[in-house]
Amino acid sequence: MTDRLPRSRTLVTNFASKRHRLNILPNSVSESKISTPLQYLKGVGPARAEVLAQMGILQPLDLVTYYPRDWEDRRVRFSVREAPMGEKTALRGTIRSIDFSITRSQLGIATAAMEDRTGRINAVWFKKLNPRYDVFSSLRHHLQIGKSLYVYGSIEWGPGSRSDLPAGRQVRVEDFSVCTDTEATLAGDEQFHFERIVPLYTVPEGLSERFLRSLIGRVLTQGTLQVHNLIPEWLRRKNSWQDRAWALSHIHFPKTLLEKEQAREILAFEEFLALETALARLRLEVKQHPKTHRYTLRRNLLTPFREHLGFEFTAPQKRVIREIFDDLMKPEPMNRLLQGDVGSGKTVVALSAMLLAVENGGQAALMAPTEILAEQHALTFARFLRDLPVRYALISGRQTPGQKKKILDEIAAGHIDLVIGTHALIQKRVRFSRLTLAVIDEQHRFGVEHRTLLREKGGVPDILVMTATPIPRTLALTLYGDLDVSILEGLPPGRSSLATYHVSEEEAYRRIRQAVSTGRQAYVVYPLVSESDKLELKAAVQEATLLKQTVFKDLRVGVLHGQLAAREKETIMDQFRRGTIDVLMATSIIEVGIDVPNATVMTIQHAERFGLSTLHQLRGRVGRGPSPSICLLIADVRSEDAHRRIQIMIETTDGFVLSEKDLELRGPGEVLGPMQHGMPAFKMGHLIRDARLIQQAHQAAEDLLESDPELKNPDHASLRQVILSQYGPKWSFGATG
Ligand code: ADP
Ligand code: MG
Repeated sequence: MTDRLPRSRTLVTNFASKRHRLNILPNSVSESKISTPLQYLKGVGPARAEVLAQMGILQPLDLVTYYPRDWEDRRVRFSVREAPMGEKTALRGTIRSIDFSITRSQLGIATAAMEDRTGRINAVWFKKLNPRYDVFSSLRHHLQIGKSLYVYGSIEWGPGSRSDLPAGRQVRVEDFSVCTDTEATLAGDEQFHFERIVPLYTVPEGLSERFLRSLIGRVLTQGTLQVHNLIPEWLRRKNSWQDRAWALSHIHFPKTLLEKEQAREILAFEEFLALETALARLRLEVKQHPKTHRYTLRRNLLTPFREHLGFEFTAPQKRVIREIFDDLMKPEPMNRLLQGDVGSGKTVVALSAMLLAVENGGQAALMAPTEILAEQHALTFARFLRDLPVRYALISGRQTPGQKKKILDEIAAGHIDLVIGTHALIQKRVRFSRLTLAVIDEQHRFGVEHRTLLREKGGVPDILVMTATPIPRTLALTLYGDLDVSILEGLPPGRSSLATYHVSEEEAYRRIRQAVSTGRQAYVVYPLVSESDKLELKAAVQEATLLKQTVFKDLRVGVLHGQLAAREKETIMDQFRRGTIDVLMATSIIEVGIDVPNATVMTIQHAERFGLSTLHQLRGRVGRGPSPSICLLIADVRSEDAHRRIQIMIETTDGFVLSEKDLELRGPGEVLGPMQHGMPAFKMGHLIRDARLIQQAHQAAEDLLESDPELKNPDHASLRQVILSQYGPKWSFGATG
């Protein structure tokens, strides 16, 4: 692959090189190569340098990587006569008259009539008066009859002021430049603000946008900045991309909008490439450390397991199991993410993998986010492993210390093959004799560190993480870049229809009664923002208790929440599973995993308060049996946002579609929560819109490491530098967190 690498490698591109200099200030090129501390740049001084420092801008390179939030087209495209009403535009003209006046409401108005060959228009400035100084002093100084004026602002209808400034169109000035000559030449810093596409920045108090624009413009044109290319030359050439210096200057001052997009693409790709290379490097490292165990397919457990299942694996399940088994039989440890919608049948897939481990004399662990789910998994195991010579155990908060110790001893001695538990699994006291496979269920509920801790329980165990918050593959590749991804599509056959409605409380209760009268069961959920928020919990329990005593007085009702003792929770879940409770009123502790097929109504109170993924998870508790199911949302949809979410819930039951909409509405940071852990914030790249670039960066990273795994090539030095500084600890530890 080395043939792709260029012979001469330019690592440093100087802004002073002619091709990259903005053609504005031809005489200001300094030959100095020393980075000037910002404070000593013209017009900065210690006070502004301080504000800049607080923005994280310490040196010239920080300035030019402080990217614009938007751009404004301030090229003069219209004559005064053609200036379009109601739109923002830039105009140029000669100042013909100037007027300062004060309204009765103490508003100062400055008006300058400006004229070009086609006509006249009033440029107006509104200023709130200040008793301590003349708010117009600067305007009085700059505006002079006969000089050329550039203004930018919206064209609107104005009343005029005096007889020589008649009513008519006016420009409400947002920014302006006065030229020192009559030829309308924009001299010095003025050239950064007009007759071009102009960058807009987010600025804190104490710093004006105009000042920052001038400063960045000057740094870019002075030619003193040293810019290293992050994207190797062979990759730039392959994509016909300009170099970093070009991208940096054109992101601020593009000549066309196309140039701006080209610059943005390069800078976004840089960010993705750094991340993807770091992640690819982690994958490589894992492969370089072979596991100590080996698997072969013996089938002495897997075959009877399949025969006793009571159903056939679906085609997607078979495919995913094959992917996992292929991985498990490789010499390097598996790190795989299994994505599948709520109810898609991930548990039996995980169980298959765990049985392969046990067939080969290993131990396997399954970690679930809640006690209730762990207990349910234990029940599932009991059902599917009934006639198999497999020893499994649950570590539960319900067990007495004596019981727990006995189980822990047996795990340590290797007398137990499969272990199920919550976070309890990663406690120090839990020791395995030969843990070869660790499965994490509903991984979006765990932090990244849990994965590492569980891994450390074994030699080099294989890891399978499962999630029912499915996200688009490209995003998964990035967020879980150190993992391989399997996707379990569709749902097993025999599922009933599941419809979602936005209803009133009365309607909801009526439909619950209806379902119960035909022998079905229902959930009424009060999702909590935080299960540990005592006030919130109290309110929910009060509401539930009130309903139990009134509307549902004649039904068998259970109230379940996180603060109950483990034993109590399990008793209530047990009764609900056995059908001796009709209505289960619960907090979000039942959000994940619970599988009671006879429950056909999911009612969600205060649905407007919750994100799409929580609502979808809750809805996934029904539609699991042969009877038609409904999800009833009781929600206040007065806010636009709530209305949209409820609408999306009604329209689709597909988790992938939902998560994509959720990502659009709320952005990855909000949706993915703890999964985001350790993810860099992208300044230019966008995780959703730049899917194609991410894919490209992913591939490029693989190619790059194949030819140069240690990034020793000088053409890769800058990239290596950035990865070390951004992803340092992970990079050097080699541990996939
Ligand atoms: P999730 O992917 O949300 O964890 P589960 O593993 O809990 O879903 O599966 C949901 C239900 O579907 C369970 O009751 C499970 O036994 C059942 N199931 C799984 N696979 C199949 C299949 N191939 N055919 C029929 N039912 C299945
Ligand atoms: Mg599950």
